[in-house]
Amino acid sequence: MIVHRVMNELVKQRLEKMKEKDDRTIWVTDLIGCKRKAELRKMYPFVLPNSVILGYFAHLGFASYVSEVGGLSEVEYEKNLDGYVIRGRIDAIIDNTVVEFKTAKQVDKPFAHHVMQVRLYMWLSNMTKAVIVYVTPERFVEFKIDKPYRTEDVRELIANWSSPRFDWECKKCEFRVVCEYAKC
Ligand code: SF4
Repeated sequence: MIVHRVMNELVKQRLEKMKEKDDRTIWVTDLIGCKRKAELRKMYPFVLPNSVILGYFAHLGFASYVSEVGGLSEVEYEKNLDGYVIRGRIDAIIDNTVVEFKTAKQVDKPFAHHVMQVRLYMWLSNMTKAVIVYVTPERFVEFKIDKPYRTEDVRELIANWSSPRFDWECKKCEFRVVCEYAKC
């Protein structure tokens, strides 16, 4: 079944990413969320949230657009900081601009964790321009982000990495049933 093949591919990608995770490597996509969730992802790599499937197909479509306009997709950067390696994979770079592509049910302004993600990418890549592009059932909209994190900000993000980082995370978390820190 196609559904099973897609799921297998997603799990394969997750396992590949896990191989690149060690205790000193911090991925941007982990750092912008709950610290415990990042640990549980390593323990249970087969548990995937539903949003991963929509994101997978949406990103495939976005990658073809990026290649049509001569941009670069899935660009990786890393920086060393205080014994950690901070790594990130930027959705696209178009015209020297970091582009992050997101799907959402509804959006009035960029979500805080997405802004964090993009500011981290700007810090990693030394770029000063960025946009977040949202596709929702009702809107196709982009927001400019123009303030990269400074190294001090990134240090603070690591020092304050909590479980959860945002109050809303537990309600949507795929690990809620096994998590000792779940808030609801
Ligand atoms: S249930 Fe909450 S605290 Fe636990 S991993 Fe998920 S988001 Fe983090």
